[in-house]
Amino acid sequence: MSIEVKNITKLYGEQKALNNVSFNVGSNEIVGFLGPNGAGKSTMMKIITCYIPPTEGTVSVCGFDTNEQSIEVRKQIGYLPEHNPLYLDMYVKEFLEFTGNLYKIKNTKERVKEMIETTGLQIEQNKKIGALSKGYRQRVGLAQAMIHDPKVLIMDEPTTGLDPNQLEDIRALIIKLGKEKTVMLSTHIMQEVEAMCDRVIIINKGEIVANDQTQTLQQNTTKQLITVEFDKDVSLQAIKSITGVEDAVLVDKTWKIVASIESDVRKELFNYAVKNNIGVLTLNKEEQKLEDVFKALTKK
Ligand code: ADP
Ligand code: MG
Repeated sequence: MSIEVKNITKLYGEQKALNNVSFNVGSNEIVGFLGPNGAGKSTMMKIITCYIPPTEGTVSVCGFDTNEQSIEVRKQIGYLPEHNPLYLDMYVKEFLEFTGNLYKIKNTKERVKEMIETTGLQIEQNKKIGALSKGYRQRVGLAQAMIHDPKVLIMDEPTTGLDPNQLEDIRALIIKLGKEKTVMLSTHIMQEVEAMCDRVIIINKGEIVANDQTQTLQQNTTKQLITVEFDKDVSLQAIKSITGVEDAVLVDKTWKIVASIESDVRKELFNYAVKNNIGVLTLNKEEQKLEDVFKALTKK
């Protein structure tokens, strides 16, 4: 196991930012840590990276305890903090060499060159960080986080504020990096998780509300929502007796029907209508996306 979080609670004064949070991240997984603003994502990441201590509970990273072996933990982790604090007056190369020296890595120059190539910074490598676009600054942040070749990468909202092209580039880069490392990234955007992550942990108000393979969560929670309007009154009982229908409500003469994605209930509904001499005025289907699951789990 790369990261083991056990019963973490964090209080800021009176305010509880995390409440008894536990989860694991396996090696070489890409895990999305998803939640609305204020859910406790950054707090959790700061605890994992030894920036702040928890109030209660323990975290271990590659077998090292964050409370007792923080120096070892920091060696294992590359961290891209939420607001990517870079020295804007430094040159890209100079900054990366500076970071490499902080970690006392050998062959700093060689390693910086490698990181510049990995993160696609070649054309910008001789500029000042302050002169770079947000997308390139994120690349510098990623190069900085990986300079000491950590096993685990923790990224706090790595794609927030990027334009669609930059977003695509950074996502591709994260997927590439994720092939050899354990990656935990936070985001408040569902599509982000669908695009990049093997697994999703959803956090809301300091508590874990879901923890599942992205695919499983999608499959288990994807339902069809069918709206149908008949030209006659039909009872709830009759609707529910139709094969595939799981639930139904009548809203302004329109039935809203929930069905599993396996069967096409529209056909059944249509057959039912024909058999009973009922006219079908409208019949529509939409799929509920992971996005809706996220909304349902995090709005209270
Ligand atoms: P997220 O990253 O999911 O947006 P945070 O971990 O930043 O959430 O914050 C979780 C909660 O803790 C929020 O209600 C936030 O206001 C509060 N919080 C975060 N940092 C501090 C702090 N240094 N002092 C007091 N409250 C804080
Ligand atoms: Mg945050």
